[in-house]
Amino acid sequence: MIIIEPHIHMVSRTTDDYQAMYAAGIRACVEPSFWMGINRTRAGTFIDYFRLILDWETIRARRFGIDHFAGVSVNPKEAEDLVLAREVIAEIGPYLDHPRCVALGEVGLNAITPNEETILAEQLALVVDKELPVLVHLPHFNKPEGIRRIMAILAESGIADERVLIDHNTEDTMPLARGTGYHLGLTVYPISKLTPQRVSHIIRHYGHERMIVSGSADWGVSDPLSLVKVVNFLREDGHPDAVINDLVFNNANRFYANSPRWKPELGLIPVDPREFQR
Ligand SMILES: [Zn+2]
Repeated sequence: MIIIEPHIHMVSRTTDDYQAMYAAGIRACVEPSFWMGINRTRAGTFIDYFRLILDWETIRARRFGIDHFAGVSVNPKEAEDLVLAREVIAEIGPYLDHPRCVALGEVGLNAITPNEETILAEQLALVVDKELPVLVHLPHFNKPEGIRRIMAILAESGIADERVLIDHNTEDTMPLARGTGYHLGLTVYPISKLTPQRVSHIIRHYGHERMIVSGSADWGVSDPLSLVKVVNFLREDGHPDAVINDLVFNNANRFYANSPRWKPELGLIPVDPREFQR
């Protein structure tokens, strides 16, 4: 089965991971901007990070047969510093318009503070007139309150529901989110977040329409092959292949197609490392 990984932080992963992902059928991925483990102190370090994921990571992934796209934003965790966040927002325009940029994201809320809400709204205003998907990160604590605030800010933004993916849903947020037109993400992690079993239950209960599963692997204890494990578990648990295919390919493909720049090349051939490694 061909898989799209719609949310993964490849800058923190190794070439072994790329080789394993290719071998397992992952042929395209999207790398949204996130927190790097320390709060950045200058707008320039955000900008260089955007260049890293938009320019360099795409080249690195392609060598391993994976078509890599990215999203740029001030992530929720670093949105608390209004001055710095606004310096980044003032410079982010060309990166939102970059040929490899297919999303504003991750934006959203972390501790659900007024400053985070302000920076979320200001970033949504940047893209309201662009053909650009929006990837929204739900807080890891107090999720029901987080998604209520996020949906209120999204509604005020004027951005169409289908252009938005609200990621990191759980059993707590699904009842609030399911009646909307948003794409809804389920994130599978080896320790925190969801397991394949919980994804299976959620899909049985809420259906698979506009549902997108991601691994969101980063430099924490995470797994770039999460989606492969989800596919295998869902099959064993009796979900039809058509449903699984929607969850790990078609729905993400449709969501990112809100950007005309999303034209994933799914037939890339890995390059012999001797050709680029000096
Ligand atoms: Zn992430």
